[in-house]
Amino acid sequence: MGRYKRLHSLFTQFGRSAYPGGFFRFSETEKTLYLSFDDGPTPEVTSWVLDLLAFYKIKASFFLIGKNVLSYPVLVERIQAEGHAVGGHSMQHENGWNTADTKYIQSILESTELLKTPLYRPPYGRIRRSQYKALKERGLQCVFWDCLSYDFDTNLESQYCFETTIQNAKPGSIVVFHDSLKAESRLKHCLPLLLDTWVEEGYSFSTIPYSPSTIM
Ligand SMILES: [Zn+2]
Repeated sequence: MGRYKRLHSLFTQFGRSAYPGGFFRFSETEKTLYLSFDDGPTPEVTSWVLDLLAFYKIKASFFLIGKNVLSYPVLVERIQAEGHAVGGHSMQHENGWNTADTKYIQSILESTELLKTPLYRPPYGRIRRSQYKALKERGLQCVFWDCLSYDFDTNLESQYCFETTIQNAKPGSIVVFHDSLKAESRLKHCLPLLLDTWVEEGYSFSTIPYSPSTIM
């Protein structure tokens, strides 16, 4: 647990200076959370998330993998029709550190163009500064996070994901979940508990805002 927290805070501190203009979190003065779901759309998992969000009347942001967008267009339509934001997450979930710049930039651009969105999130948060800069110059807005649910970690107990997310989420936080098969069991345990708790604590929820002026 300690190791994760240290790595996490280093990532946020380093990231803010390495990736100027990247979103890590929003205003601390408003009790708003920005929930995000990566790696979908995935049949059943994404539909389950959408049903739950609809029940609570919560809007969130989905960072979709291009190959899944092409496979499940009806799910993408549903995400957008229900008022959620969408962002690109590359075509094949490429890791920017291991992928040539031209190929990586192309993959992110393709994934955002499919969805007609300026928002993207680099898979694993791993993106070279050269890649980041090129995408920023194309007018894209990179969305990182300050709160991970760790639902992707198959070694963790679901209850740990719930507890660590409750501890780490603060007003203005961008929280990351995964609507993927890998995360499904932890997500399905912790998301309803988290939403219940946050609603009771008086949080409101918003999609990741975007306008050209937010790029610094
Ligand atoms: Zn991902």
